[in-house]
Amino acid sequence: KKRPDTAFGFDNSYVRLPQNFFALQAPTQVAEPWLIKLNEPLAKELGLDVDILKRDGAAIFSGNLVPKGAEPLAMAYAGHQFGHFVPLLGDGRAILLGEVIDRSGQRRDIQLKGAGQTPFSRRGDGRAALGPVLREYIISEAMFALGIPATRALAAVLTGEGVRREDVLPGAVFTRVAASHIRVGTFQYLAASGDEDGIKALADHVIERHYPELKTAEPPYLALYEAVCDRQAALIARWLQVGFIHGVMNTDNMTISGETIDFGPCAFMDIYDPMKVFSSIDQHGRYAYANQPGIGQWNLARLGEALLPLIDADKDKAIEHANAIIKAYGERFHAYWLQGMRGKIGLTSTEDGDLELIQSLLALMQAEGADFTLTFRRLSAVAGDEAAEAIFASTFREPAATAEWLARWRERLSRDPQTPSDRAVAMKQVNPAFIPRNHRVEQAIEAAVQDGDFSLFEALLTVLSNPYDEQPAFAAYMDPPKPEERVLQTFCGT
Ligand code: AMP
Ligand code: MG
Ligand code: MG
Repeated sequence: KKRPDTAFGFDNSYVRLPQNFFALQAPTQVAEPWLIKLNEPLAKELGLDVDILKRDGAAIFSGNLVPKGAEPLAMAYAGHQFGHFVPLLGDGRAILLGEVIDRSGQRRDIQLKGAGQTPFSRRGDGRAALGPVLREYIISEAMFALGIPATRALAAVLTGEGVRREDVLPGAVFTRVAASHIRVGTFQYLAASGDEDGIKALADHVIERHYPELKTAEPPYLALYEAVCDRQAALIARWLQVGFIHGVMNTDNMTISGETIDFGPCAFMDIYDPMKVFSSIDQHGRYAYANQPGIGQWNLARLGEALLPLIDADKDKAIEHANAIIKAYGERFHAYWLQGMRGKIGLTSTEDGDLELIQSLLALMQAEGADFTLTFRRLSAVAGDEAAEAIFASTFREPAATAEWLARWRERLSRDPQTPSDRAVAMKQVNPAFIPRNHRVEQAIEAAVQDGDFSLFEALLTVLSNPYDEQPAFAAYMDPPKPEERVLQTFCGT
Protein backbone atom coordinates (compact mmCIF):
# COMPACT_ATOMS: atom_id res chain seq x y z
CA LYS A 1 0.00 0.00 0.00
CA LYS A 2 1.01 3.55 -0.66
CA ARG A 3 2.52 5.26 2.38
CA PRO A 4 1.33 8.74 3.34
CA ASP A 5 4.36 10.99 3.27
CA THR A 6 4.08 13.69 5.84
CA ALA A 7 1.58 12.65 8.54
CA PHE A 8 4.30 12.00 11.12
CA GLY A 9 7.77 13.45 11.40
CA PHE A 10 9.19 10.36 13.07
CA ASP A 11 12.51 10.55 14.90
CA ASN A 12 13.02 7.14 16.48
CA SER A 13 15.50 6.58 19.28
CA TYR A 14 14.40 3.37 21.02
CA VAL A 15 15.08 1.27 17.94
CA ARG A 16 18.74 2.43 18.11
CA LEU A 17 19.17 0.91 21.59
CA PRO A 18 20.57 -2.63 22.00
CA GLN A 19 18.61 -5.27 20.10
CA ASN A 20 17.56 -7.24 23.17
CA PHE A 21 15.45 -4.24 24.26
CA PHE A 22 12.72 -4.96 21.69
CA ALA A 23 11.52 -7.08 18.79
CA LEU A 24 10.85 -5.53 15.41
CA GLN A 25 7.21 -6.27 14.68
CA ALA A 26 4.76 -4.79 12.17
CA PRO A 27 1.06 -4.51 13.05
CA THR A 28 -1.24 -7.24 11.72
CA GLN A 29 -3.81 -6.16 9.13
CA VAL A 30 -7.47 -5.91 10.15
CA ALA A 31 -10.60 -6.56 8.06
CA GLU A 32 -12.52 -3.30 7.99
CA PRO A 33 -11.08 -0.39 9.95
CA TRP A 34 -13.32 2.49 10.93
CA LEU A 35 -12.15 5.64 12.70
CA ILE A 36 -14.14 6.21 15.90
CA LYS A 37 -12.23 9.23 17.10
CA LEU A 38 -9.19 11.31 16.27
CA ASN A 39 -7.89 13.67 18.96
CA GLU A 40 -7.24 16.69 16.75
CA PRO A 41 -5.86 19.05 19.41
CA LEU A 42 -3.35 16.39 20.44
CA ALA A 43 -2.48 15.64 16.80
CA LYS A 44 -1.69 19.34 16.33
CA GLU A 45 0.35 19.44 19.54
CA LEU A 46 2.39 16.56 18.12
CA GLY A 47 2.94 18.44 14.87
CA LEU A 48 1.06 15.80 12.84
CA ASP A 49 -0.71 16.49 9.56
CA VAL A 50 -4.36 16.47 10.60
CA ASP A 51 -5.69 16.44 7.04
CA ILE A 52 -3.83 13.24 6.23
CA LEU A 53 -4.97 11.70 9.51
CA LYS A 54 -8.60 12.60 8.79
CA ARG A 55 -8.33 10.99 5.36
CA ASP A 56 -6.23 7.94 6.23
CA GLY A 57 -6.78 7.69 10.00
CA ALA A 58 -8.74 4.42 9.86
CA ALA A 59 -5.94 2.73 7.92
CA ILE A 60 -3.10 4.27 9.93
CA PHE A 61 -4.54 3.82 13.42
CA SER A 62 -5.65 0.24 12.74
CA GLY A 63 -2.14 -0.70 11.67
CA ASN A 64 -3.21 -1.42 8.08
CA LEU A 65 -1.11 1.42 6.73
CA VAL A 66 2.29 1.87 8.34
CA PRO A 67 3.23 5.52 7.87
CA LYS A 68 6.55 6.50 6.34
CA GLY A 69 9.30 6.78 8.92
CA ALA A 70 7.68 4.35 11.37
CA GLU A 71 9.90 1.53 12.65
CA PRO A 72 7.34 -0.67 14.42
CA LEU A 73 8.52 -2.65 17.42
CA ALA A 74 7.33 -4.40 20.57
CA MET A 75 9.23 -3.48 23.73
CA ALA A 76 10.62 -6.12 26.09
CA TYR A 77 9.98 -5.78 29.81
CA ALA A 78 9.51 -7.82 32.95
CA GLY A 79 7.21 -7.14 35.87
CA HIS A 80 5.94 -8.02 39.29
CA GLN A 81 2.28 -8.89 38.76
CA PHE A 82 0.43 -8.83 42.09
CA GLY A 83 3.79 -9.39 43.75
CA HIS A 84 4.93 -12.29 41.56
CA PHE A 85 7.92 -11.71 39.33
CA VAL A 86 7.66 -12.55 35.63
CA PRO A 87 11.10 -12.11 34.00
CA LEU A 88 9.70 -11.57 30.49
CA LEU A 89 6.37 -9.91 29.72
CA GLY A 90 6.83 -7.36 26.96
CA ASP A 91 4.31 -5.73 24.62
CA GLY A 92 2.03 -8.63 23.82
CA ARG A 93 -0.42 -6.51 21.88
CA ALA A 94 1.09 -3.06 21.69
CA ILE A 95 3.33 -1.89 18.89
CA LEU A 96 5.42 1.26 19.03
CA LEU A 97 5.20 2.93 15.62
CA GLY A 98 7.90 5.42 16.49
CA GLU A 99 8.62 8.73 18.20
CA VAL A 100 7.89 12.30 17.24
CA ILE A 101 9.19 15.56 18.67
CA ASP A 102 6.17 17.63 19.67
CA ARG A 103 5.73 21.39 19.32
CA SER A 104 7.28 22.01 22.72
CA GLY A 105 10.35 19.94 21.82
CA GLN A 106 9.33 16.87 23.84
CA ARG A 107 9.93 13.40 22.44
CA ARG A 108 6.67 11.36 22.45
CA ASP A 109 5.95 7.71 21.65
CA ILE A 110 3.13 6.80 19.26
CA GLN A 111 1.92 3.31 20.07
CA LEU A 112 -0.88 1.14 18.71
CA LYS A 113 -2.52 -1.01 21.41
CA GLY A 114 -4.39 -4.07 20.12
CA ALA A 115 -2.52 -4.14 16.80
CA GLY A 116 -1.88 -7.89 16.67
CA GLN A 117 0.43 -10.51 18.08
CA THR A 118 4.10 -9.99 18.85
CA PRO A 119 6.86 -12.34 20.02
CA PHE A 120 5.72 -11.42 23.57
CA SER A 121 2.06 -12.40 23.16
CA ARG A 122 2.33 -15.78 24.91
CA ARG A 123 -1.23 -17.12 24.78
CA GLY A 124 -2.83 -13.72 24.05
CA ASP A 125 -4.42 -12.78 20.74
CA GLY A 126 -2.69 -9.41 20.50
CA ARG A 127 -6.04 -7.68 20.24
CA ALA A 128 -8.18 -5.28 22.27
CA ALA A 129 -11.94 -5.10 22.69
CA LEU A 130 -13.88 -1.90 22.08
CA GLY A 131 -14.97 -1.41 25.72
CA PRO A 132 -11.49 -1.22 27.26
CA VAL A 133 -10.30 0.96 24.37
CA LEU A 134 -13.04 3.51 25.06
CA ARG A 135 -12.38 3.29 28.81
CA GLU A 136 -8.70 4.07 28.31
CA TYR A 137 -9.57 6.90 25.91
CA ILE A 138 -12.00 8.50 28.35
CA ILE A 139 -10.00 8.11 31.52
CA SER A 140 -6.57 9.03 30.18
CA GLU A 141 -7.99 12.21 28.61
CA ALA A 142 -9.86 12.98 31.84
CA MET A 143 -6.61 12.65 33.80
CA PHE A 144 -4.89 15.02 31.41
CA ALA A 145 -7.67 17.58 31.77
CA LEU A 146 -7.47 17.25 35.55
CA GLY A 147 -3.80 18.21 35.24
CA ILE A 148 -2.47 14.81 36.28
CA PRO A 149 0.45 13.38 34.26
CA ALA A 150 -0.89 10.57 32.06
CA THR A 151 -0.44 8.96 28.69
CA ARG A 152 -2.76 10.45 26.07
CA ALA A 153 -5.33 9.16 23.60
CA LEU A 154 -4.64 10.04 19.97
CA ALA A 155 -7.18 7.81 18.24
CA ALA A 156 -9.53 4.86 18.48
CA VAL A 157 -10.60 2.64 15.58
CA LEU A 158 -12.90 -0.32 15.15
CA THR A 159 -11.22 -3.23 13.37
CA GLY A 160 -14.34 -4.78 11.87
CA GLU A 161 -13.27 -8.02 13.51
CA GLY A 162 -14.55 -9.77 16.60
CA VAL A 163 -12.34 -10.57 19.56
CA ARG A 164 -13.02 -13.67 21.59
CA ARG A 165 -13.24 -13.01 25.32
CA GLU A 166 -16.01 -14.51 27.47
CA ASP A 167 -18.22 -13.39 24.57
CA VAL A 168 -17.23 -12.31 21.11
CA LEU A 169 -16.81 -8.53 21.28
CA PRO A 170 -16.12 -5.82 18.71
CA GLY A 171 -12.37 -5.40 18.24
CA ALA A 172 -10.64 -2.04 18.38
CA VAL A 173 -7.20 -0.46 18.35
CA PHE A 174 -6.19 2.37 20.68
CA THR A 175 -3.43 4.81 19.76
CA ARG A 176 -1.54 5.89 22.84
CA VAL A 177 0.90 8.76 23.18
CA ALA A 178 3.43 8.67 26.02
CA ALA A 179 6.54 10.56 27.05
CA SER A 180 7.91 7.04 26.73
CA HIS A 181 6.72 3.52 27.47
CA ILE A 182 9.75 2.72 29.62
CA ARG A 183 8.61 1.13 32.86
CA VAL A 184 10.05 -0.08 36.14
CA GLY A 185 9.68 -3.50 34.49
CA THR A 186 11.94 -2.47 31.60
CA PHE A 187 14.84 -2.12 34.04
CA GLN A 188 13.80 -5.32 35.81
CA TYR A 189 13.94 -7.21 32.51
CA LEU A 190 17.57 -6.22 31.96
CA ALA A 191 18.48 -6.84 35.60
CA ALA A 192 16.89 -10.31 35.50
CA SER A 193 19.12 -11.30 32.59
CA GLY A 194 22.22 -9.82 34.25
CA ASP A 195 22.64 -7.30 31.45
CA GLU A 196 24.55 -4.55 33.27
CA ASP A 197 25.59 -2.81 30.04
CA GLY A 198 21.95 -2.79 29.06
CA ILE A 199 20.86 -1.26 32.37
CA LYS A 200 23.39 1.51 31.86
CA ALA A 201 22.31 2.09 28.26
CA LEU A 202 18.67 2.29 29.34
CA ALA A 203 19.47 4.61 32.26
CA ASP A 204 21.45 6.91 29.95
CA HIS A 205 18.56 6.94 27.48
CA VAL A 206 16.11 7.75 30.28
CA ILE A 207 18.27 10.59 31.62
CA GLU A 208 18.61 12.08 28.15
CA ARG A 209 14.92 11.76 27.50
CA HIS A 210 13.16 12.42 30.81
CA TYR A 211 15.71 13.90 33.21
CA PRO A 212 18.20 15.91 31.11
CA GLU A 213 18.89 18.16 34.11
CA LEU A 214 20.64 15.16 35.73
CA LYS A 215 23.24 14.76 33.01
CA THR A 216 25.73 16.70 35.07
CA ALA A 217 24.74 15.14 38.42
CA GLU A 218 27.47 13.12 40.11
CA PRO A 219 26.67 10.29 40.36
CA PRO A 220 23.81 10.57 37.82
CA TYR A 221 22.20 7.19 38.49
CA LEU A 222 21.49 7.73 42.17
CA ALA A 223 20.05 11.12 41.24
CA LEU A 224 17.97 9.40 38.57
CA TYR A 225 16.56 6.98 41.10
CA GLU A 226 15.71 9.82 43.43
CA ALA A 227 14.05 11.80 40.65
CA VAL A 228 11.90 8.86 39.54
CA CYS A 229 10.82 8.32 43.16
CA ASP A 230 9.98 12.01 43.46
CA ARG A 231 7.78 12.02 40.35
CA GLN A 232 5.94 8.90 41.48
CA ALA A 233 5.39 10.35 44.95
CA ALA A 234 3.92 13.48 43.38
CA LEU A 235 1.83 11.45 40.93
CA ILE A 236 0.30 9.09 43.47
CA ALA A 237 -0.53 12.04 45.74
CA ARG A 238 -2.47 13.52 42.82
CA TRP A 239 -4.33 10.25 42.28
CA LEU A 240 -5.46 10.20 45.88
CA GLN A 241 -6.63 13.78 45.67
CA VAL A 242 -9.14 12.99 42.91
CA GLY A 243 -10.23 9.58 44.22
CA PHE A 244 -8.44 7.64 41.48
CA ILE A 245 -7.77 3.94 41.91
CA HIS A 246 -5.34 2.60 39.30
CA GLY A 247 -6.31 -0.98 39.97
CA VAL A 248 -3.28 -2.81 38.59
CA MET A 249 -0.11 -1.18 39.87
CA ASN A 250 2.18 -3.96 38.73
CA THR A 251 5.77 -2.86 38.14
CA ASP A 252 5.21 -3.18 34.38
CA ASN A 253 2.46 -0.57 34.72
CA MET A 254 4.60 2.09 36.42
CA THR A 255 6.41 4.48 34.10
CA ILE A 256 9.86 5.96 34.58
CA SER A 257 8.62 9.28 33.19
CA GLY A 258 6.06 9.76 35.97
CA GLU A 259 2.99 9.49 33.73
CA THR A 260 -0.01 7.39 34.72
CA ILE A 261 -0.17 4.42 32.35
CA ASP A 262 -2.37 1.43 31.61
CA PHE A 263 -5.97 2.29 32.33
CA GLY A 264 -7.32 -1.24 32.65
CA PRO A 265 -9.60 -1.79 35.63
CA CYS A 266 -8.99 1.71 36.99
CA ALA A 267 -11.85 3.78 38.37
CA PHE A 268 -12.70 6.88 40.37
CA MET A 269 -14.51 6.27 43.61
CA ASP A 270 -17.84 7.86 44.39
CA ILE A 271 -18.38 7.36 48.15
CA TYR A 272 -15.15 7.82 50.09
CA ASP A 273 -13.76 4.50 51.30
CA PRO A 274 -10.00 4.18 51.78
CA MET A 275 -10.07 0.42 51.21
CA LYS A 276 -12.07 0.74 48.00
CA VAL A 277 -11.22 -1.75 45.22
CA PHE A 278 -12.97 -1.99 41.87
CA SER A 279 -10.85 -4.47 39.95
CA SER A 280 -12.37 -7.93 39.75
CA ILE A 281 -8.92 -9.52 39.79
CA ASP A 282 -7.68 -7.64 42.88
CA GLN A 283 -9.10 -10.20 45.29
CA HIS A 284 -7.06 -9.20 48.32
CA GLY A 285 -7.16 -5.45 47.86
CA ARG A 286 -3.43 -5.15 47.15
CA TYR A 287 -4.18 -2.14 44.97
CA ALA A 288 -6.92 -0.57 47.10
CA TYR A 289 -7.16 3.25 47.10
CA ALA A 290 -5.20 3.86 50.29
CA ASN A 291 -2.61 1.16 49.54
CA GLN A 292 -1.40 2.99 46.44
CA PRO A 293 1.36 5.09 48.07
CA GLY A 294 2.78 2.01 49.79
CA ILE A 295 2.59 -0.07 46.62
CA GLY A 296 4.33 2.76 44.79
CA GLN A 297 7.14 2.49 47.31
CA TRP A 298 7.28 -1.29 46.93
CA ASN A 299 7.52 -0.94 43.14
CA LEU A 300 10.21 1.72 43.45
CA ALA A 301 12.20 -0.56 45.74
CA ARG A 302 12.17 -3.08 42.87
CA LEU A 303 13.51 -0.32 40.58
CA GLY A 304 16.23 0.39 43.12
CA GLU A 305 17.27 -3.26 43.07
CA ALA A 306 17.60 -3.17 39.29
CA LEU A 307 19.69 0.01 39.45
CA LEU A 308 22.08 -1.18 42.18
CA PRO A 309 24.99 -2.02 39.82
CA LEU A 310 24.90 1.58 38.52
CA ILE A 311 24.61 3.18 41.94
CA ASP A 312 27.85 1.88 43.40
CA ALA A 313 30.34 -0.85 42.51
CA ASP A 314 30.32 -1.77 46.21
CA LYS A 315 27.02 -3.56 46.65
CA ASP A 316 26.62 -2.74 50.36
CA LYS A 317 27.15 0.94 49.66
CA ALA A 318 24.73 0.82 46.73
CA ILE A 319 22.06 -0.74 48.97
CA GLU A 320 22.65 1.86 51.64
CA HIS A 321 22.21 4.72 49.14
CA ALA A 322 19.12 3.17 47.57
CA ASN A 323 17.58 2.51 50.98
CA ALA A 324 17.96 6.13 52.00
CA ILE A 325 16.08 7.19 48.86
CA ILE A 326 13.28 4.69 49.18
CA LYS A 327 12.82 5.76 52.78
CA ALA A 328 12.67 9.42 51.75
CA TYR A 329 9.96 8.52 49.23
CA GLY A 330 7.57 8.03 52.15
CA GLU A 331 8.28 11.52 53.44
CA ARG A 332 8.07 13.03 49.97
CA PHE A 333 4.74 11.38 49.33
CA HIS A 334 3.38 12.64 52.62
CA ALA A 335 4.57 16.19 51.92
CA TYR A 336 2.98 16.23 48.44
CA TRP A 337 -0.21 14.73 49.75
CA LEU A 338 -0.52 17.13 52.68
CA GLN A 339 0.21 20.15 50.52
CA GLY A 340 -2.41 19.07 48.00
CA MET A 341 -4.97 18.38 50.72
CA ARG A 342 -4.35 21.81 52.24
CA GLY A 343 -5.25 23.26 48.87
CA LYS A 344 -8.39 21.14 48.71
CA ILE A 345 -9.69 22.64 51.97
CA GLY A 346 -8.61 26.15 50.99
CA LEU A 347 -5.46 26.67 53.03
CA THR A 348 -2.50 28.63 51.70
CA SER A 349 -0.71 28.82 55.05
CA THR A 350 0.73 25.97 57.11
CA GLU A 351 -0.01 24.97 60.69
CA ASP A 352 0.77 21.86 62.71
CA GLY A 353 -2.89 21.01 63.20
CA ASP A 354 -3.67 20.92 59.47
CA LEU A 355 -3.05 17.20 59.10
CA GLU A 356 -5.46 16.43 61.91
CA LEU A 357 -8.09 18.78 60.43
CA ILE A 358 -7.82 17.03 57.05
CA GLN A 359 -7.89 13.57 58.59
CA SER A 360 -10.98 14.35 60.61
CA LEU A 361 -12.81 15.50 57.48
CA LEU A 362 -11.85 12.26 55.73
CA ALA A 363 -12.96 10.22 58.73
CA LEU A 364 -16.28 12.02 58.74
CA MET A 365 -16.72 11.43 55.01
CA GLN A 366 -16.06 7.74 55.52
CA ALA A 367 -18.38 7.42 58.52
CA GLU A 368 -21.15 9.37 56.80
CA GLY A 369 -20.91 7.82 53.31
CA ALA A 370 -20.01 11.10 51.61
CA ASP A 371 -19.21 11.31 47.91
CA PHE A 372 -15.50 12.18 47.59
CA THR A 373 -15.75 14.59 44.65
CA LEU A 374 -18.93 16.37 45.75
CA THR A 375 -17.66 16.90 49.29
CA PHE A 376 -14.68 18.98 48.17
CA ARG A 377 -16.49 20.74 45.35
CA ARG A 378 -19.30 21.78 47.68
CA LEU A 379 -16.84 22.81 50.37
CA SER A 380 -15.32 25.15 47.77
CA ALA A 381 -18.69 26.85 47.47
CA VAL A 382 -19.03 27.14 51.26
CA ALA A 383 -15.69 28.95 51.33
CA GLY A 384 -17.18 31.79 49.31
CA ASP A 385 -20.75 31.74 50.57
CA GLU A 386 -22.01 30.48 53.92
CA ALA A 387 -25.43 29.84 52.39
CA ALA A 388 -23.89 26.90 50.50
CA GLU A 389 -23.40 25.08 53.78
CA ALA A 390 -26.70 23.19 53.65
CA ILE A 391 -25.84 21.66 50.27
CA PHE A 392 -22.39 20.69 51.53
CA ALA A 393 -23.88 19.07 54.64
CA SER A 394 -26.43 17.17 52.56
CA THR A 395 -23.52 15.21 51.04
CA PHE A 396 -23.27 13.40 54.40
CA ARG A 397 -25.75 10.80 55.61
CA GLU A 398 -26.36 12.84 58.78
CA PRO A 399 -25.93 16.48 57.69
CA ALA A 400 -25.73 17.78 61.29
CA ALA A 401 -22.59 15.68 61.79
CA THR A 402 -20.65 18.25 59.73
CA ALA A 403 -21.29 21.21 62.07
CA GLU A 404 -18.42 20.63 64.45
CA TRP A 405 -15.89 20.10 61.65
CA LEU A 406 -17.11 23.19 59.77
CA ALA A 407 -16.66 25.28 62.92
CA ARG A 408 -13.07 24.06 63.33
CA TRP A 409 -12.40 24.70 59.64
CA ARG A 410 -13.74 28.27 59.84
CA GLU A 411 -11.64 28.92 62.91
CA ARG A 412 -8.56 27.73 60.99
CA LEU A 413 -9.50 29.81 57.93
CA SER A 414 -9.60 32.91 60.14
CA ARG A 415 -5.80 32.60 60.35
CA ASP A 416 -5.31 32.11 56.59
CA PRO A 417 -4.63 35.21 54.49
CA GLN A 418 -6.91 34.57 51.48
CA THR A 419 -10.22 36.41 51.09
CA PRO A 420 -13.30 34.16 50.98
CA SER A 421 -13.97 34.84 47.31
CA ASP A 422 -10.35 34.19 46.27
CA ARG A 423 -10.38 31.04 48.37
CA ALA A 424 -13.53 29.74 46.69
CA VAL A 425 -11.99 30.33 43.25
CA ALA A 426 -8.72 28.65 44.21
CA MET A 427 -10.52 25.66 45.72
CA LYS A 428 -12.59 25.15 42.57
CA GLN A 429 -9.36 24.94 40.60
CA VAL A 430 -8.23 21.91 42.59
CA ASN A 431 -11.58 20.31 43.43
CA PRO A 432 -13.12 19.08 40.18
CA ALA A 433 -16.83 19.19 39.51
CA PHE A 434 -16.54 16.43 36.91
CA ILE A 435 -14.69 13.15 37.11
CA PRO A 436 -15.22 10.09 34.88
CA ARG A 437 -17.79 8.53 37.12
CA ASN A 438 -17.93 4.82 36.64
CA HIS A 439 -21.59 4.57 35.78
CA ARG A 440 -21.19 7.23 33.08
CA VAL A 441 -18.17 5.45 31.63
CA GLU A 442 -20.06 2.14 31.62
CA GLN A 443 -23.13 3.74 30.01
CA ALA A 444 -20.98 5.25 27.26
CA ILE A 445 -19.24 1.92 26.64
CA GLU A 446 -22.49 -0.02 26.61
CA ALA A 447 -24.14 2.29 24.06
CA ALA A 448 -21.09 1.96 21.81
CA VAL A 449 -20.71 -1.80 22.15
CA GLN A 450 -24.42 -2.72 22.03
CA ASP A 451 -25.74 -0.14 19.58
CA GLY A 452 -22.74 1.37 17.81
CA ASP A 453 -23.80 4.66 19.39
CA PHE A 454 -20.80 6.85 20.26
CA SER A 455 -22.78 9.92 21.33
CA LEU A 456 -22.42 9.26 25.07
CA PHE A 457 -18.70 8.66 24.60
CA GLU A 458 -18.40 12.01 22.80
CA ALA A 459 -20.51 13.82 25.41
CA LEU A 460 -18.42 12.41 28.22
CA LEU A 461 -15.20 13.51 26.53
CA THR A 462 -16.61 17.01 26.15
CA VAL A 463 -17.68 17.32 29.79
CA LEU A 464 -14.45 15.86 31.13
CA SER A 465 -12.27 18.17 29.06
CA ASN A 466 -13.19 21.01 31.48
CA PRO A 467 -13.46 19.27 34.84
CA TYR A 468 -13.06 22.39 36.97
CA ASP A 469 -15.71 24.52 35.17
CA GLU A 470 -19.36 24.65 36.20
CA GLN A 471 -20.92 23.57 32.83
CA PRO A 472 -24.59 23.94 33.93
CA ALA A 473 -25.80 22.16 30.78
CA PHE A 474 -24.05 19.02 31.99
CA ALA A 475 -24.94 19.32 35.70
CA ALA A 476 -26.26 15.75 35.76
CA TYR A 477 -22.75 14.49 35.05
CA MET A 478 -21.76 15.71 38.52
CA ASP A 479 -24.23 13.37 40.17
CA PRO A 480 -23.14 10.18 41.86
CA PRO A 481 -24.82 7.01 40.57
CA LYS A 482 -28.34 6.19 41.65
CA PRO A 483 -28.43 2.88 43.56
CA GLU A 484 -29.39 0.97 40.40
CA GLU A 485 -26.61 2.67 38.40
CA ARG A 486 -23.83 1.77 40.78
CA VAL A 487 -20.89 -0.09 39.23
CA LEU A 488 -19.39 -2.46 41.74
CA GLN A 489 -16.59 -3.99 39.72
CA THR A 490 -14.39 -3.19 36.78
CA PHE A 491 -12.70 -5.81 34.67
CA CYS A 492 -9.29 -6.00 33.14
CA GLY A 493 -11.37 -7.18 30.19
CA THR A 494 -8.58 -6.74 27.68
P1 AMP B 1 -1.62 -5.46 31.41
O1 AMP B 1 -2.38 -6.24 32.41
O2 AMP B 1 -2.49 -4.80 30.39
O3 AMP B 1 -0.63 -4.54 31.99
O4 AMP B 1 -0.80 -6.54 30.55
C1 AMP B 1 0.08 -7.47 31.13
C2 AMP B 1 0.80 -8.24 30.05
O5 AMP B 1 -0.12 -9.04 29.30
C3 AMP B 1 1.54 -7.40 29.03
O6 AMP B 1 2.72 -8.08 28.70
C4 AMP B 1 0.57 -7.35 27.88
O7 AMP B 1 1.22 -7.09 26.65
C5 AMP B 1 -0.02 -8.75 27.92
N1 AMP B 1 -1.35 -8.82 27.28
C6 AMP B 1 -2.50 -8.32 27.76
N2 AMP B 1 -3.51 -8.57 26.92
C7 AMP B 1 -3.02 -9.25 25.86
C8 AMP B 1 -3.55 -9.80 24.66
N3 AMP B 1 -4.85 -9.71 24.35
N4 AMP B 1 -2.70 -10.42 23.81
C9 AMP B 1 -1.40 -10.54 24.10
N5 AMP B 1 -0.83 -10.05 25.21
C10 AMP B 1 -1.62 -9.41 26.09
MG1 MG C 1 0.46 -3.13 31.15
MG1 MG D 1 -3.59 -3.24 30.31
